[in-house]
Amino acid sequence: MGVPTIGCTCAVCHSSDPHDRRTRPSIMVEYAGRCVLIDTTPDFREQAIRENITHIDAIVYTHAHADHVLGLDDVRPLSFRSPDKIPLYAYANTAEAIERIFRYIFDADYKFGGIARVQMHRINGALDLFGVRFEPVKVIHGEADIHGFRFGSAAYLTDFSEIPPESMEKLRGLDILFLDALRHRPHPTHSTVSNSLRLVEELKPKRAFFTHIAHDLPHEETNRSFPSHVRLAHDGLKLEFEIA
Ligand SMILES: [Zn+2]
Ligand SMILES: [Zn+2]
Repeated sequence: MGVPTIGCTCAVCHSSDPHDRRTRPSIMVEYAGRCVLIDTTPDFREQAIRENITHIDAIVYTHAHADHVLGLDDVRPLSFRSPDKIPLYAYANTAEAIERIFRYIFDADYKFGGIARVQMHRINGALDLFGVRFEPVKVIHGEADIHGFRFGSAAYLTDFSEIPPESMEKLRGLDILFLDALRHRPHPTHSTVSNSLRLVEELKPKRAFFTHIAHDLPHEETNRSFPSHVRLAHDGLKLEFEIA
């Protein structure tokens, strides 16, 4: 829902620490002059302006929940500047849901103009984007199977309640692991802090960053309770890692 959460009077939603202001989850992977975006959140416009994003070469989707896709329309100005349509990559069920939600964008007979210049591509496995392999990592998000991605020595798993054993094998030897840690209390479709700490212990990435954080977790105080290689991610966080 983003933090502050609309209408909430809790301490985190009213915190003066900028780290406690959380837009919806998304990352941009930048290499060799290319920018690959993972998900287009309802906050994409604000994020893109904040980070001075001037172009996007591809968008990869994890799943079609509202908090991960609703900003697609806001790629319009970047898509008008791009010589080709911006390619979108998603598994078939995610692609279908995005095409349903944004029917006008994918409607060849749309008469009003000004729509985002994007092209949907269905994927069913690893993706080569500008010389870098984006390996899908299947995770269980409540009732649904969705995908995180590994690229080089980093992996991004934004929404999950469980990681199946075959996916755990794809997550060894990482420098950076992003993983869902919604809050302390159990949730039917998201991981908790204690579950994600346990996963970090098992997978042993050099550094781990928790994301998809609700207003239950104050940034400073929660970080103090973690081992030094585990931190809550925050808006605007920038990290370097080996991608090739
Ligand atoms: Zn979700
Ligand atoms: Zn989500």
